[in-house]
Amino acid sequence: MRINVSQQLKASMGSIREYEVSEIVNLASGRSMVQGEVGLMRTDRGILVRGTLRTDVEVTCSRCLSLFSCPLTLNIEEEYFPIADVASGAVLLAPEEPGCFTIDEHHVIDLTEVIRQYALLTIPMKPLCRGDCAGLCSDCGHNLNQGPCHCSPQGRDPRWSELSKLTLARDAVVNEQKGIE
Ligand SMILES: [Zn+2]
Ligand SMILES: [Zn+2]
Repeated sequence: MRINVSQQLKASMGSIREYEVSEIVNLASGRSMVQGEVGLMRTDRGILVRGTLRTDVEVTCSRCLSLFSCPLTLNIEEEYFPIADVASGAVLLAPEEPGCFTIDEHHVIDLTEVIRQYALLTIPMKPLCRGDCAGLCSDCGHNLNQGPCHCSPQGRDPRWSELSKLTLARDAVVNEQKGIE
């Protein structure tokens, strides 16, 4: 997303403009819709971009290895520095800060890179498709979120033993009902 800030660079310090963001951005896992609002404020050195954006990225669950859509909230706050003076066009030196964001010679701010970087920082290191993801059976690789597998009971996840009892009990009831009919 590109915003021309030439007018705002001429405005007085502290002036704010709001922009609605609704953009498809190439993030870690592919193209994602990014939505929200940002406020641009004129500072003594450049433009401060602040806002909250929301997106979803496709990630792999660290337990069951299934792909799922992980919602991300990006709280962005970055100052952009002009590399050209808006009145004279003279070249300006950006501050010697590593990875600092710049306003290009056409006085345009590009939000794509900042969105990409914040998304990368926000994606959890060990994503879980859900808090209680049961993972995979260590013997057969079956996804235990879809129910128990047919491995030996010792190999089974103990969390499923209660559930399989329930299933057996329910089957018994069904069989009884069939007997009555
Ligand atoms: Zn999972
Ligand atoms: Zn198994």
